[in-house]
Amino acid sequence: MEQLKCIGCGISIQTTKPKELGYTPASSLKNVEDKVIYCQRCFKLKHYNEVQDVSLTSGDFLKILQQVGESDALVINIIDIFDFSGSLVTGITRHIGGNDILVVGNKVDLLPKSTNKTKLNHWMRRSLKEMGLKPLDVALVSAEKGLGIEELMGMIEKYRKGRDVYIVGCTNVGKSTLVNRIIKRFTEEQQDIITTSHFPGTTLDIIEIPLDDETAIIDTPGIINEHQLAHYVTPAVLKQMTPKKEIKAGVYQLNPEQTLFIGGLARLDFVKGERTSFIFHLSNQLHIHRTKLEKAEQLWKTQAGSVLKPIILENDQPRPMEKHVYHINNQKTDIVISGLGWLTLIGTGQEIHIHAPVGVGVFIRPSLI
Ligand code: GDP
Repeated sequence: MEQLKCIGCGISIQTTKPKELGYTPASSLKNVEDKVIYCQRCFKLKHYNEVQDVSLTSGDFLKILQQVGESDALVINIIDIFDFSGSLVTGITRHIGGNDILVVGNKVDLLPKSTNKTKLNHWMRRSLKEMGLKPLDVALVSAEKGLGIEELMGMIEKYRKGRDVYIVGCTNVGKSTLVNRIIKRFTEEQQDIITTSHFPGTTLDIIEIPLDDETAIIDTPGIINEHQLAHYVTPAVLKQMTPKKEIKAGVYQLNPEQTLFIGGLARLDFVKGERTSFIFHLSNQLHIHRTKLEKAEQLWKTQAGSVLKPIILENDQPRPMEKHVYHINNQKTDIVISGLGWLTLIGTGQEIHIHAPVGVGVFIRPSLI
């Protein structure tokens, strides 16, 4: 078949990867001769003024970041507070030059209501600093619930100082949900203000929301971060493992040589140490299965996909697990499994092994809450 192109952005049409550029459902390509083809992204933008995120690999994304680095702009990096390390754009400081950066932590609605926001704000700044990122400010929002949006708009106005604003972020952080909120605010006053344009020197299109006659908010495609578990699972599993509302922490008291399976997605072995409380921050829809460490391997071999579910399949087999070994020496530590959640443990001296699907990021940090 002749290669079809979207008449909105010129991209080649494809029907297999919904999150990538040029996607159009195959069903909309029937009787193509007498139809004008839009990719789904342009279609939604044209008819609903709605932005849909598309993803890019890091190579293409670097081109965009470099361009951002060459212009005088305010950069807004959206991250997912539920997957803090996993949703950071690696090397962002290196590429955006001396530009000012504002970090927005999204999905704040998922954190327990008792979370102290000022402490969280300090924690974010400290963690970002350790990663070499010194933002002008940090904001906490819930794009979905509309929390913190007015404050964010105020910050943007304060820090942009008449410059363009670039929005960057990994996929799945809620970037499109947030951008759509921002667009809604603008379109209440004015219709059809959004445009797409090609990114100079690439075939990538970006979305511009004008702020005034000369400057705009520029929404860039989402970058794929392969550490995110979300990247490996089916949409149904993603739905099951993504919390939809405030996470209710679950507490497990474990003796050494006990194991907990988090569905079939990860496994925690408490290898050595005093009896310890583990506080889980995960989707309530995931089932935790407790067993003895010595039985864990066998249980995984015989029950992966049945008692232990959901699992990630690869060529009809469970995706292999990788072991991460931790010796705990902080009073209150979080172990984060990127995209799945985290567990907090109290006390020191424990040896913990986390088994997570190969490629998925597992991080340790001083406790967030
Ligand atoms: P993008 O890939 O960064 O554009 O992310 P999306 O906007 O498509 O959102 C990814 C997922 O996160 C979707 O399941 C959204 O429903 C969810 N999401 C987005 N914003 C929020 C939020 O503020 N809170 C919660 N709980 N979920 C959110």
